[in-house]
Amino acid sequence: MRDLIIIGAGPAGLSAAIYAKRAALNTLVIEKNPLSGGQIMNTYEVDNYLGLPNIGGFEMASRFREHADLLNCEFLTAEVSKITKIDEKDNPYFIIKTNIDEIAARSVIIAAGASHAKLGVPGETELAGMGVSYCATCDGAFFRGRTVAVIGGGDVAAEDAIFLARACEKVYLIHRRNELRAAAILIEALQKLNNVEILWDTVVEGIDGEDQVEAVKLRNVNTNVITSLNVAGIFIAVGLVPNTKIFQNIAPINEKGYFIADENCVTGTSGIFAAGDIRTKKLRQITTAVADGAIAVTSVQQYLLDFPMK
Ligand code: NAP
Repeated sequence: MRDLIIIGAGPAGLSAAIYAKRAALNTLVIEKNPLSGGQIMNTYEVDNYLGLPNIGGFEMASRFREHADLLNCEFLTAEVSKITKIDEKDNPYFIIKTNIDEIAARSVIIAAGASHAKLGVPGETELAGMGVSYCATCDGAFFRGRTVAVIGGGDVAAEDAIFLARACEKVYLIHRRNELRAAAILIEALQKLNNVEILWDTVVEGIDGEDQVEAVKLRNVNTNVITSLNVAGIFIAVGLVPNTKIFQNIAPINEKGYFIADENCVTGTSGIFAAGDIRTKKLRQITTAVADGAIAVTSVQQYLLDFPMK
């Protein structure tokens, strides 16, 4: 019986691993990818994490993992499919089912993060990997010298457009409103690039192409006029969907799919804690995920004291 299982090895999960180790909790981190880091693995550069200016996402992820390895945190590469609460009298615990093993633990921190949201338009699924991408840093190099479109108006869309403008001939940033929600510093950087054009008040109606993206069908939301824009690639950056699908029954989630948890990462189920992008919160950043990892372990320690093994 473990004291704690941590699901996910992004910034929240790795931070929790370090704090749990230092608190001498018998802990196992379960991560489905052999590499740790979560979303930062697909980030070209991170510029707002204190003390590490302009660090590459991959390097940051590696350094986070190295820190956990230095403390001999234990990891298992496996995919969790279910958590079941066992309400044994005076000794509540959880069974975490994975594709490798079933593991028993007295508490669980779910730090499984979030995934890319889909547009849900015709052609998106059919042409995924054939010009439709959700990761500019992973796939951008295939579009050197070509014309591409980025969809979205948040930080990721702005960062993707800036990144792609370095190698692509032309980048269209397509946003459904007439104002970006990206950080001011990113908007400023975008405005300096003469090969980036923003198409305001515009939504994607479909993606066309035989076995490769050839064009994107657009609709102006004010005029309803439909146009077709020739592009070789489409980078979709329309936000995140929390990875709570398989955990639906273990703790309450809100209408957007996030675990309802307070600032102490405490969910509606005693013994289950939610840390990082997967929980309700105002600001989803690496800094807040790392903070969650630490706070969640503090909450776990209190929980284990409140419910000692009998
Ligand atoms: P986001 O901030 O939620 O932005 C999503 C964008 O996509 C919004 O502009 C939204 O439009 C648009 N959108 C959503 N659904 C759409 C649809 N169906 N069709 C067209 N457009 C749609 O998501 P994100 O950019 O992926 O960022 C996720 C989180 O990570 C955010 O909290 C962000 O601040 C954070 N982040 C931070 C950094 C950094 O600090 N360096 C870097 C990357 C990400 P509306 O604006 O109209 O809603």
